[in-house]
Amino acid sequence: MKITDIFELATHTFSFEFFPPKDEIAAVDFGVNVGKLMKLSPSFVSVTYGAGGSNRERNFDLVNYLQNKVGLTVMAHYTCVGTSKEKALADIEHLKSINVENLMLLRGDPPKGVDNFTPHPDGFAHASDLIESVCSKFKNVFSTGAGCYPEKHPEADTLDADIQNLKEKTAAGADFLVTQLFFNNQIYFDFLEKLRNADIRCRVIPGIIPITAYSQIERFVKLSNTNIPEELADRLNSSKDNPKRVMQTGIDFAIEQCRELLANGAPGIHFYTLNKSGATVEIYETIRKYVPI
Ligand SMILES: Cc1cc2nc3c(=O)[nH]c(=O)nc-3n(C[C@H](O)[C@H](O)[C@H](O)COP(=O)(O)OP(=O)(O)OC[C@H]3O[C@@H](n4cnc5c(N)ncnc54)[C@H](O)[C@@H]3O)c2cc1C
Repeated sequence: MKITDIFELATHTFSFEFFPPKDEIAAVDFGVNVGKLMKLSPSFVSVTYGAGGSNRERNFDLVNYLQNKVGLTVMAHYTCVGTSKEKALADIEHLKSINVENLMLLRGDPPKGVDNFTPHPDGFAHASDLIESVCSKFKNVFSTGAGCYPEKHPEADTLDADIQNLKEKTAAGADFLVTQLFFNNQIYFDFLEKLRNADIRCRVIPGIIPITAYSQIERFVKLSNTNIPEELADRLNSSKDNPKRVMQTGIDFAIEQCRELLANGAPGIHFYTLNKSGATVEIYETIRKYVPI
């Protein structure tokens, strides 16, 4: 089913993001966690594409398995890093052939150790170019999502410039947006207002991740330059030496964050699960008591 059709049927969408497990042991763990998350009947799940365009086969295999064997509605991520236009369109044709109806189309990041993104000589320079090409070749075949950054993409000079570039993605055919992770809801609400002022009117699904370990804070800040609200930082600092309390603090905060987002008009929640289930199950089961699905 297309995500755009799900939007019409559901009051809110709840979706889970996975990445292909790196080895056999991780695959067993992954199977157990997907089993637990499936019981929550997510609106859709998404499968990330390997950083720098790596693990292409594993990504497609997992998408195929979840879509066709498990029977989930899958959104396949695809990046154009290191890929010619011809190859990218052939990959999308392949995804179509395995019944994928939903794509998250991205530019991607340069491979590790490389500072700047350089497009393939015959490739796409920006996500908007990929989106434009896919949407014009595969008219109405896919529901198409794109990424957005309430705290600005790290390469953009200003948030306003980033939003102008984002507008090219929706103009090219992106049906909806999913945000980079964030912890400060006010930043999301302000971002939405800026999008509306720029005449970007599609659904913007918040991407949420609970902090489950103290060591993650630095990683998340580095990854997306995200703002950690003082209240959350204080709560985490006071539990620093107690991993269980840190995890519960992260979960409780995410529950409050999701409730506030949904109560104020967010169309759903996209959970960055990191292939784990415990925190996401607890958050989802708590918020569904308060919020119509
Ligand atoms: C929801 C989500 C899912 C993701 N999933 C994956 C994944 O599965 N695999 C993976 O490797 N990465 C993933 N990423 C990370 C993403 O690949 C990186 O953030 C990447 O650096 C940017 O990708 P993009 O599609 O946003 O690029 P773009 O939209 O092309 O933007 C990248 C930068 O270029 C600028 N820009 C865009 N268009 C123009 C233009 N026409 N002229 C000048 N500048 C322009 C933008 O302002 C921005 O600074 C994801 C990110 C998000 C938010």
